[in-house]
Amino acid sequence: MTIDTGIHTSDVIVIGGGTGGYSTALRAASLGLDVVLVERDKVGGTCLHRGCIPSKAMLHAAELVDGIAEARERWGVKATVDSVEWGALVATRDDIVARNHKGVEAHLAHAGVRVVRGSARLTGTRTVRVEGVRTIDDGAHSGVAPGVRDLVARRGIVLATGSRPRTLPGLAPDGRRVVTSDDALFAPGLPASVLVLGGGAIGAEYASFHRSMGAQVTLVEAADRIVPLEDADVSRHLTRGLKKRGIDVQAGARLLDAELLDGGVRARVRTARGETRTVTADRLLVAVGRAPVTEGLGLEAAGLTTDERGFVVPADWRRLETAVPGVHVVGDLLPPPSLGLAHASFAEGLLVAETLAGLEPAPVDYAAVPRVTYSSPQTASVGLGEAEARARGHEVDVNTMPLTAVAKGMVHGQGGMVKVVAEAGGGQVLGVHLVGPHVSEMIAESQLIVGWDAEPADVARHVHAHPTLSEAVGEVFLTLAGRGLHQQ
Ligand SMILES: Cc1cc2nc3c(=O)[nH]c(=O)nc-3n(C[C@H](O)[C@H](O)[C@H](O)COP(=O)(O)OP(=O)(O)OC[C@H]3O[C@@H](n4cnc5c(N)ncnc54)[C@H](O)[C@@H]3O)c2cc1C
Repeated sequence: MTIDTGIHTSDVIVIGGGTGGYSTALRAASLGLDVVLVERDKVGGTCLHRGCIPSKAMLHAAELVDGIAEARERWGVKATVDSVEWGALVATRDDIVARNHKGVEAHLAHAGVRVVRGSARLTGTRTVRVEGVRTIDDGAHSGVAPGVRDLVARRGIVLATGSRPRTLPGLAPDGRRVVTSDDALFAPGLPASVLVLGGGAIGAEYASFHRSMGAQVTLVEAADRIVPLEDADVSRHLTRGLKKRGIDVQAGARLLDAELLDGGVRARVRTARGETRTVTADRLLVAVGRAPVTEGLGLEAAGLTTDERGFVVPADWRRLETAVPGVHVVGDLLPPPSLGLAHASFAEGLLVAETLAGLEPAPVDYAAVPRVTYSSPQTASVGLGEAEARARGHEVDVNTMPLTAVAKGMVHGQGGMVKVVAEAGGGQVLGVHLVGPHVSEMIAESQLIVGWDAEPADVARHVHAHPTLSEAVGEVFLTLAGRGLHQQ
């Protein structure tokens, strides 16, 4: 047991142990740097404890429920869902999270990263004060060190304090009737009706999950289409798929007000047609985006500021280094073109660790980072949408094909599509956009196609397995390369 409240010097201090912070720490340690990671809650951060992992575990359960409905309706299987035991679902979900949490802790200990559990704030350009220190784990030893600990970094400090759910003025979450995506995980049971505010990935996923669990779901998005950052055809196909499942999708709509009732909310929504509709639901889930966490971080002590949205903007995006040399930033603290996604933060963590170790890694190619919505149907995209490509001055060839045009798509019977945007005349592939079942697993080849600046003819040389959903991707590229087989 180590009880040590003195000043501790290391090569690198990482503040925040989410995916951005722990990936930086692991890679820096593997490159021989002495690393201290400060985390005030649990290593793994949002993604592991409140984001990617618990939500995808729940969506897996939802897929099983949907599968029973499909079995009955399409395949003559005499099966019904009696009920879903929320407690059992939560237990399995939480077991997956707990095992991953142990795994991250073990990786950090194995790599020799010292984890200080407490709340960190900058006191200078190379100094950090940790308050409320609970434990310090340094692999072999772990102990309670009361109070405060001062840290000094020889090489640099990495800011990785992440984000929290954004809320709306006048709509304070109470954790029961008005909830954030965090609260939705820890709710005592499943609601019979939900109004989801926000049609981005998180909103669409929660709308989809609750619908699978039998709830009446209304999804309200202020922009004129859901998943508004994606290609318009992605929004169209996702909207169609969600509506087909009975979700009331209201894009171009605004929440006027919400009244708390004993057992839920009554909200007034102005629809795109200008009508005012009253929606009564057990739960109003606010999924209107995420806000960077910098309060109490002491940015000013290091001479740093945020932009007007609260992001820490790098002065050098190639090194993810702020205007203060040696102070770097990763993850959800970064504004676009970073993506607020865990896998983007892994790439940023690798880059910053390697930079601090004196290497010269290639910058993160944000255009080649895939974006996935794990609703039913799923969406998966990489690169530019058609309108965005044209707006950037590209002359483009576009080819789109429904997934049901291939046999495996018919087997799944869930619709969907493949859309490819490429420079006109056989040039570089600029974007690939998929909607349908399992497309989260299908996007990997397209991220290589976009990341490696491939042209349709390069892709068309490679054979896709038959019968698979991926064949549709192959077919779209064959056609763009002038060698279409089934697509006319
Ligand atoms: C519901 C939901 C679903 C999601 N699904 C996906 C998905 O499927 N795929 C995907 O790629 N992304 C997904 N995301 C996004 C993903 O979770 C984030 O992009 C990712 O967690 C960002 O990592 P980060 O390290 O920047 O921040 P975080 O994970 O938020 O970690 C920051 C850490 O810093 C700690 N901290 C903050 N301030 C201090 C301080 N002063 N001192 C010490 N510690 C501090 C916090 O306790 C936290 O642990 C999802 C998010 C949500 C909410």
